Amino acid sequence: MHSPTIIELSRSAVQNNIEFIRKSICKDTRMSCILKGNAYGHGFGKYVELLLENQIDHFSVFSSFEAYQILSQMKGKRSFDLMIIGDIPDEHLEWVITHQVEFYVFDFYRLERALKVAKSLNKKAYIHLEVETGMNRLGFEQADWTEAIEFLQRHKKYLVFKGLCTHYAGAESIANHTRIGMQIKKFQKAQNLCQTLGYPPQMVHSACSAAAIRFPKTRQDLVRIGIIQYGFWPSEETFIRYITQRKNEQNPLQKVLSWRSRVMSLKEVKRGEYVGYGMSYLTSENKKLAVVGVGYSNGFARGLSNSGRVIIRGVRTQVIGTVNMNAITVDVTHIPDVQVGDDVILIGQSGQAEVSVSSFANFSEQLNYEVLARLPLDIERVVVD
Ligand SMILES: *Cc1c(COP(=O)(O)O)cnc(C)c1O
Repeated sequence: MHSPTIIELSRSAVQNNIEFIRKSICKDTRMSCILKGNAYGHGFGKYVELLLENQIDHFSVFSSFEAYQILSQMKGKRSFDLMIIGDIPDEHLEWVITHQVEFYVFDFYRLERALKVAKSLNKKAYIHLEVETGMNRLGFEQADWTEAIEFLQRHKKYLVFKGLCTHYAGAESIANHTRIGMQIKKFQKAQNLCQTLGYPPQMVHSACSAAAIRFPKTRQDLVRIGIIQYGFWPSEETFIRYITQRKNEQNPLQKVLSWRSRVMSLKEVKRGEYVGYGMSYLTSENKKLAVVGVGYSNGFARGLSNSGRVIIRGVRTQVIGTVNMNAITVDVTHIPDVQVGDDVILIGQSGQAEVSVSSFANFSEQLNYEVLARLPLDIERVVVD
């Protein structure tokens, strides 16, 4: 039984995007696919399988909780490395180390906890040392780099220096160019320090999608690819720059996700009637309306009242009246032959018509990232070809 709305994931789009990323980075650079935020709303359940079909062998998640969800889903099969780039409550460290999940360490507190737990388990902990280079979020301050590296060296029986890493503060915008340039330089200093101390990490990594595309220098041993694997550019600017540099008018990325529902009921309403709760919409002509079983409880924001767009039978049309908890009403007056059960595209494409994630976000400043990550967990995800 299908839920009233489903999210479809396109297998061919995943393959296309992964191929594009592989072509764009160096042959020796590994790719880690970032799956935080329920795989940017795509749902790790089905999405991880699609990545495995494309021989992806490195995943990153934000928390130990997400790492646990992914490993539980794999039921013991494990053909990939898994890295936690964020939160690990103390009580999860034992699980993380036992399962050889690699993890970021950004302060002495976690470094010492990791050593203690690894010792008590008599196992190795795989550590990515995150250094602060200018984002001012997470990472060891420069003054502490030597001490942190020497700590790893001193305790190498239990702590593996798997990676040295940092994160850029907005590589998707030219406005941040100078700041990113300074971060790249500072990160180079951290790499040099490891050499000077005679204790280099197994790998060095810093690039997110935007950095990997725009700053070739940041494609090191590994790139951490988030948004572009799902078919979205990190920003409009990144896309325009990419296209103009290549004299290639085609967008090389394809969107993986589309969100659909269906027509639940049809109704004719005469001119001069209000539609839905209150008086927010008055018909100016005789109208044919379709009710669709999706609402704000499914992530279709109330802010889309009287403004959201959907596609029915290849035609873009408009939400009429307010978005309800489980229903919207859309105008189908000018769409011939609409039937109950017809497909309704909430995000996605049909022929020339498109409802993009960014238009869905009401042209809100930013962020495809946010709209995607807010797609509810409980919408069923289905793979299509
Ligand atoms: C989210 C994240 C990424 C991926 O960013 P995209 O812009 O989606 O490619 C990479 N590294 C870290 C540390 C992140 O938090």
